[in-house]
Amino acid sequence: MSGAVLALRDVVKTYGDVHALRGVSLEVVAGEFVAVVGPSGSGKSTMLNIVGTLDRPTSGTVTIAGNDVATMSDDELSRLRADHIGFVFQHFHLQTGATAAENVADGVLYAGLPRRERHRLAVDALGRVGLGHRVDHRPHQLSGGEKQRVAIARAIVGGPTILLADEPTGALDTASGAAVLALLRELNDGGTTVLVITHDLELAASLPRQVRMRDGLVSQDDGAGAAAGAAALAAAIRDHR
Ligand code: ADP
Repeated sequence: MSGAVLALRDVVKTYGDVHALRGVSLEVVAGEFVAVVGPSGSGKSTMLNIVGTLDRPTSGTVTIAGNDVATMSDDELSRLRADHIGFVFQHFHLQTGATAAENVADGVLYAGLPRRERHRLAVDALGRVGLGHRVDHRPHQLSGGEKQRVAIARAIVGGPTILLADEPTGALDTASGAAVLALLRELNDGGTTVLVITHDLELAASLPRQVRMRDGLVSQDDGAGAAAGAAALAAAIRDHR
């Protein structure tokens, strides 16, 4: 296995006569932490939605964990998403009437597990994001940073291959944003591959690889080789422990 968990080749996405992506190629290997930056409208969210299989490309190839998504039915894509992909959004997307544990348990809704087991996994995931004491709280009882940590727990509860985050710190104050970033780094240190869209250039600069987008294309990709090498080395060290 090449180690690539994600590969886009010449991906084009058009909406009517809007060319959101005009031929994006990108490969991400297991264990990488990639920042995607670029001006508003450059195609970042479109790319993330395609990587997350929420949307299909107009043309080009998308391979997730070795699966060519073009050959898959909508049911198979749902399965692929459930098995391999975790999403974190800028505005959390939590169910307001549900507790933190119930929100997180939604992350394994399709795993075919009994309710009690889903709850156990949710409590465990909340512990991992430092919210073991907020299990029964509802979103309105939580701070912005805590809500995002619940959303991250929901994204990781199923043990995804890749975590996709679209401006995860965009709605947070500086301190909460820094805590969320620290958490993503911790998850990455534990082996989760992370792809994060951000407007925050300082945040991006602190990450080993930055993919810059402009006008529907990758205009710059810094650190890909080094990051891939470091990720492969980290994975090898983990495997030999
Ligand atoms: P970014 O995330 O970098 O701000 P987007 O991927 O959201 O950029 O958008 C890229 C371009 O595609 C923009 O011109 C946007 O208006 C357009 N676009 C995105 N989604 C849709 C859609 N569902 N329908 C029509 N146009 C869209």
